[in-house]
Amino acid sequence: MKHELVKIIIVGGGLSGITLAHQLEEKKIDFRIIDEGINHSTKVAAGMINPMTFRRMIKTWKGDELIPTLKEFYPAIEKKIKHKFFFQRKLRRAFNSEHERDLWMERLEENEYDDYLNPPEDKKNTPSHLKAPFGNGFLSTPGYVDAKKFMQYNHDYFIEKGLLEYGKFDFSELDPSSKTYKNEEFSHLIFCEGYKGEDNPYFGYLPFSNAKGEVLTVNSDVFDKNEILNKKCFILPTENGDFKLGATYAWYTQDTSPTEEAKKELLENYNLLSSAPIEVIDHEAGIRPAVADRRPLIGEHPTHKGLYIFNGLGSKGYMIAPYCAIEFVDFLMGKGEIDQEADIQRFYKKHFNKQ
Ligand SMILES: Cc1cc2nc3c(=O)[nH]c(=O)nc-3n(C[C@H](O)[C@H](O)[C@H](O)COP(=O)(O)OP(=O)(O)OC[C@H]3O[C@@H](n4cnc5c(N)ncnc54)[C@H](O)[C@@H]3O)c2cc1C
Repeated sequence: MKHELVKIIIVGGGLSGITLAHQLEEKKIDFRIIDEGINHSTKVAAGMINPMTFRRMIKTWKGDELIPTLKEFYPAIEKKIKHKFFFQRKLRRAFNSEHERDLWMERLEENEYDDYLNPPEDKKNTPSHLKAPFGNGFLSTPGYVDAKKFMQYNHDYFIEKGLLEYGKFDFSELDPSSKTYKNEEFSHLIFCEGYKGEDNPYFGYLPFSNAKGEVLTVNSDVFDKNEILNKKCFILPTENGDFKLGATYAWYTQDTSPTEEAKKELLENYNLLSSAPIEVIDHEAGIRPAVADRRPLIGEHPTHKGLYIFNGLGSKGYMIAPYCAIEFVDFLMGKGEIDQEADIQRFYKKHFNKQ
């Protein structure tokens, strides 16, 4: 073990900070969370668990490990905090083109996709409002995490235990050489700041490529409440009875306000998916903490020992976070390594040395 795990401060109480905190608690390691109380990703997300990248019709990074892990992790948290936020859904993909349907058929022949893809649906079982001239098929997915419930219940849980306090982390009060924050000693300071990580004076050298995303909440009495629909955009039925329509991507901005362009884009994409009338009841925007190579950012600062980052969860954070939190805590306990593809050491030569 590099440093004794005696006192951990987590900066950021979004998905990354929350999953990390639960894993530390599981291992009986002391921690506290400081969160600014403003969240622009975890809370806005649709929380969909989608183990496929349809564009190339391949499984997402580490899909075979991430899915079984999250299927245990989230229910275990639900049991602990006595609140439900993880719900089952089926995902129906309407194929974009003949080529996409052919790729789906090819993958069906490969054993490693047995747990994911199902044969295309019969036309007679396809909802009449769905625009699917090239057919459609079901992807087996565990469902979705209700993002607002997830944030609220977990914050309530940690606040009640006295482990979460609201406030902005003040970098002028941090002394990395004596490992103190506001004169209080810590053994590990772990930054889980989401897209704000790019402004972090210690980790801002990492090549963040954050992606703004916008989602609409819509009403409809046509959609099946158990089915996520997906093509160009998605319609996700929530437990409240409404539906999330998402999501857009825009880079190089920290502006978290919803825009008319994104709303227009979402509605145009929706028109390619379904003919069912919808009523827009809400519009939200957030920023995904992402990296150009689409891998997380995990590890210790190259020179300021004791400072760590757990970030870069990208557009599939709800899928990635449980696995990475478990692996990271094992690493902190001296029981394993951080996956090389997620370890920030991959940027040492190209980005840190150039500072
Ligand atoms: C529109 C949209 C749709 C999405 N849909 C999905 C989806 O369907 N499925 C999926 O898996 N993922 C989805 N995501 C991605 C997912 O939301 C992210 O991967 C994940 O929430 C990132 O969590 P985080 O904790 O790293 O960041 P955040 O959620 O941004 O949390 C960071 C926290 O750090 C705090 N903080 C920052 N700086 C400081 C400071 N100096 N002091 C104190 N606190 C600080 C903030 O207050 C915040 O609460 C979506 C994201 C968006 C924007």
